[in-house]
Amino acid sequence: MRDSYGREISYLRVSVTDRCNLRCVYCMPAEGVPLLPREEVLSFEQIASVASAAARLGFRKLRLTGGEPLVRSGLPELVGILARVQGIERLAMTTNGTLLAPVAAELAARGLDSVNVSLDTLDAARYAAVTRGGRLADALEGIDSARHAGMPVKLNVVALEDSTDADFDELRRYAKYIGAEIQFIARYRLSEEKRDGGDYDRPPRCEQCNRLRLLADGTLRPCLHGNVAVKVDFGDLEGSIATAVAQKPKRGGICTGLEVGQIGG
Ligand code: SF4
Repeated sequence: MRDSYGREISYLRVSVTDRCNLRCVYCMPAEGVPLLPREEVLSFEQIASVASAAARLGFRKLRLTGGEPLVRSGLPELVGILARVQGIERLAMTTNGTLLAPVAAELAARGLDSVNVSLDTLDAARYAAVTRGGRLADALEGIDSARHAGMPVKLNVVALEDSTDADFDELRRYAKYIGAEIQFIARYRLSEEKRDGGDYDRPPRCEQCNRLRLLADGTLRPCLHGNVAVKVDFGDLEGSIATAVAQKPKRGGICTGLEVGQIGG
């Protein structure tokens, strides 16, 4: 469907949880974020009903995000449900990869098409610092398992203040070696005015925005860098989606009160 600026909005990013097993410095504070009560988190059936309505309105791509989507128990089952939604042509997931190894084969078998894995450094000590306690080996094992399960992998590299060209070159060599794509993301803060990626691949340019976000609390967000949130009316799903698309801004601004991890980037 088109928004009021003529942009084709065909991509729904679905945050299945606000929980994460890591605390990346560019995503959430060390103490984490106030978590949604479990009873307020959308069920798989509710997520599937929104995805089906979106598909009826012309959405063709879904991406599962979090927090960390693999923290949500039973995620392979949700993948299986969403992979069968009529009209959805691509089902992807963004993950930190540290929980991916044990389930990669099942996710692929149930219909997951591809994964983006956050990997900002190949230095184990720096990885532990950036993620506040993560193990690089777990992420690399996750990436390996996804590749062996036949899923295309894209590495998401956030350009941090202390990132160097040498870091980026090392990650490029690694991506080439394993046959993965790689994209570099300019660090952004939701509390600051939205800036396009510039020399980096991401954030995307608002002129080409094609996305809508469904949060784990059942709200639709027309824009990452904005405060508009449309509560999904399960009695009028297409109406809720149309209302959210109609409220997409020409350009992102500032989002207050939420961390990236609560929206799913
Ligand atoms: S900031 Fe908003 S309008 Fe711009 S690309 Fe992101 S979601 Fe789209």
